[in-house]
Amino acid sequence: MDLTRRTFIRAGSGAILASALGFDVRSAHAQSRELKIARTTETRSTCPYCSVSCGIIIHTLGDKAKNVTPQVVHVEGDADHPINRGTLCPKGASLYHDILNDRRLLKPQVRRPGSDHWEDIGWDQAFDEIARHIKKTRDETFVTTDAQGRVVNRCESIAWNGGCTDTNEFNYLVVKTMRSLGVCYLENQARV
Ligand code: SF4
Repeated sequence: MDLTRRTFIRAGSGAILASALGFDVRSAHAQSRELKIARTTETRSTCPYCSVSCGIIIHTLGDKAKNVTPQVVHVEGDADHPINRGTLCPKGASLYHDILNDRRLLKPQVRRPGSDHWEDIGWDQAFDEIARHIKKTRDETFVTTDAQGRVVNRCESIAWNGGCTDTNEFNYLVVKTMRSLGVCYLENQARV
């Protein structure tokens, strides 16, 4: 049998590699996966990246032990999920590295006018500053009537752009809040 790059990759799942290389790695392949997720807790969830909403299984270790911080050790597609049947695109397949990324931001940051760097601030300070900016901007720019004199009561100077990890519940609150402020420019990437 000719061993091309394509057949070699396909062989990763079993039969072709067994015959192409002259030995059978299927049991070793199955065993390595078994070892990786042995003793893990499986949590079914949804990939947060886009509105396809693929099902995933998150494997964690240490959930049941005292004085141990649970650790995500593996994320894979959920084979029982009707949307993706176990498959994940490259973004979804890299979820593990998103969860365990030491560059992940865990606190709010702000870059002041004229500054060339971001600084960490606390959540309370971030909420206060955001609220103050929104009120000031809305008060100064609120449009009550359009050019024909019709009442419109809208805020054209604030826009909201949601992220792909926003949930339905979060988007519901965003729409309620922004519409009550009169914000017209409102978009979210995903509708999980
Ligand atoms: S795995 Fe890919 S296609 Fe599926 S929800 Fe995540 S980003 Fe979207």
